[in-house]
Amino acid sequence: MNYPCRIADDVVALGRWWGVLVYLVLGAKPVLVDAGPSGHARKIIDAIRSIGISPSTITGIVLTHFDYDHSGSAQELSQELNAPVSIHKADASLLMRPQECPGLRRFLYHPPIPRLLRWRPLQADIELSSGDTLGDWKVLHTPGHTPGSISLVRGTVGLVGDALVYRNCQLRPNVWHLSTNHAQELASAKMLANSGLQIVLPGHYAPSTDPSAVDRLARRLAHGSI
Ligand SMILES: [Zn+2]
Repeated sequence: MNYPCRIADDVVALGRWWGVLVYLVLGAKPVLVDAGPSGHARKIIDAIRSIGISPSTITGIVLTHFDYDHSGSAQELSQELNAPVSIHKADASLLMRPQECPGLRRFLYHPPIPRLLRWRPLQADIELSSGDTLGDWKVLHTPGHTPGSISLVRGTVGLVGDALVYRNCQLRPNVWHLSTNHAQELASAKMLANSGLQIVLPGHYAPSTDPSAVDRLARRLAHGSI
């Protein structure tokens, strides 16, 4: 897939940097969904301009979770765009102190890794909760990959962060050893698979615009084959 690419009404996949997809949700109050790794703010802003959107119209940056590959450029983008950073309340403290994350992921934040990745802790401006709305989009708490992972859902379209990945034409939960709670991750995947989604926009690999991929995921989860 070539980026930027309009995936759904009012949703553009701006690009993939270090394998992380950054989305722009258009509408009355355009927001960026995820911010890519550190040092990519300029490239993301260039991608916004390249589709004829003025970066000054962006009203916010929503992080699906705190991981460094999704949050690295959030601070610079926030300053450049004069837009607040939002994240679920359960990941807000991890954005400040990621080494306190449960599970193996905390080791990714031990020195010197953050310094090598030029990742810096960040104080979010807005803490989100499940059920909050961003324009037409509803915030769903889809924990497991991280404690405060969220998805944004509008009708049949879902921006799911790392709650699901789409690879080799299959939707599936992210790799279990990166989850902070595998049971929660499976429960979140089941909830998303049974939410009537047809277009699923994950944080890695590629967007899924194949409705049957969601049905197949729901069946595999129901049969316990994931
Ligand atoms: Zn992640």
